[in-house]
Amino acid sequence: MQLPLHIALISEHASPVALLGGADAGGQNVYVDELGRELARLGHRVDVLTRRDNPYAPRLVDWGPGMRVVNVDAGPPQLLSKDELWQYMPDFRDDVMRLWLLEGERPDVLHGNFWMSGWVATELRKLEGVPAVHTFHALGTTKRRHQGHADTSPAERVAVEESIVRRVDRIIAQCPCEVAELVDDYGADPSRLALIHGGVNTERFHPVNRAKARRALGLDPDALLIVYVGRMLPRKDVRNIVRALALLVPHQHGYGDSPLAQPRLLVVGGETAEPDPVATPEIGVLRRLAGELGVEHLVDFTGRRQPDELRLYYSAADVAVTTPWYEPFGLTPLEAMACGVPVIGSAVGGIPHTVEHGVTGLLVPPRDPESLADALRELLSRPRLRLRMGRAARARVEQEFTWSTVARRMEDLYRSVAHSRGEARPKMAATTVGKRTP
Ligand code: UDP
Repeated sequence: MQLPLHIALISEHASPVALLGGADAGGQNVYVDELGRELARLGHRVDVLTRRDNPYAPRLVDWGPGMRVVNVDAGPPQLLSKDELWQYMPDFRDDVMRLWLLEGERPDVLHGNFWMSGWVATELRKLEGVPAVHTFHALGTTKRRHQGHADTSPAERVAVEESIVRRVDRIIAQCPCEVAELVDDYGADPSRLALIHGGVNTERFHPVNRAKARRALGLDPDALLIVYVGRMLPRKDVRNIVRALALLVPHQHGYGDSPLAQPRLLVVGGETAEPDPVATPEIGVLRRLAGELGVEHLVDFTGRRQPDELRLYYSAADVAVTTPWYEPFGLTPLEAMACGVPVIGSAVGGIPHTVEHGVTGLLVPPRDPESLADALRELLSRPRLRLRMGRAARARVEQEFTWSTVARRMEDLYRSVAHSRGEARPKMAATTVGKRTP
């Protein structure tokens, strides 16, 4: 039998704790939380190292059996946007070294998440001899390609990413598209890449009878309902869905009083639990756009919802839609699929890897409301096809995308790097903690 590992997941801005109501919590928080829990369930000891953003939080939080969240002191203990965090990464590194010195133990393997934690992982690998793997979650070159001047990432980001690619033991790509980006844009050595996709919690996300879900949420039992769940960012392009709805509606008049004449769009997400256009400017933009296009009466916003409530929103849907410009992986299509709902997604990033075109949903090009309107027309008018796709979606998730499958693949990867470097560690007592600039 193999010994359990001590694993440190480094995630400087995305903490599992933020899932309990934090505004900016997205896919990375879920990834670190679910992966950590599943690894702990396999018997490993897991630390999530995240930046302290609250002065009153304890240093160590027991997050579940075998899993701790460690609040690392780096920068002011308050919420900061992730674009402000780069300057504090040397402090982050030093505080982690202090923790290990105090506890008299280093982990067996580090797993960096996002580029700044990747830098910390490469530093700790170098200074402490702990092997490191890394998941980028999003790549600077891709972001720059799509966002141009709107990209507010620190100027050093891409150079740091290039050095992470060279310096860690393995890079984890979450989909074939990310493999291509890492090789083409960063010159990554394909033999040092591991393709391990993200997963979905199939106990949290499971099908709920549609009528029951709608009753619980106070939604019209008869409407045809399109649901978007996710962060409210321009790159998620919910505007594309509003535009497609506006293209669809005039053609639906032939359906008279049937629900097909007036499909509705429900938008779930935002910085606050109420749909507030001040806290979430994108909600204001979408409302104005819907007004200009004459579909404001068909679009509703809920604001942010907790993960445990989301299965009701997905299950209430006739179809879930997400058409981002780009998407490093995309957990929300998987969550909808786990709830037995067909997904229309843009054919970018991880989405073609999760949504099987024609089987579990439909793929459309990004920034193309006409194609989306066609795909919506096809699914909204064919209830039996939707049912078939929804069942196939749940089956695909159960087979391929559970977190336990993901954690087992990750465990194999950790063991392969822990074995290859485990001997070469410096002795704990030799550790010094000092200031070094990034
Ligand atoms: N999410 C949530 N409440 C909301 C909207 C989104 O908990 O109101 C969660 C959603 O369930 C998903 C995550 O935020 O797990 C978004 O992950 P995804 O990979 O789709 O996008 P990212 O945030 O990483 O860009």
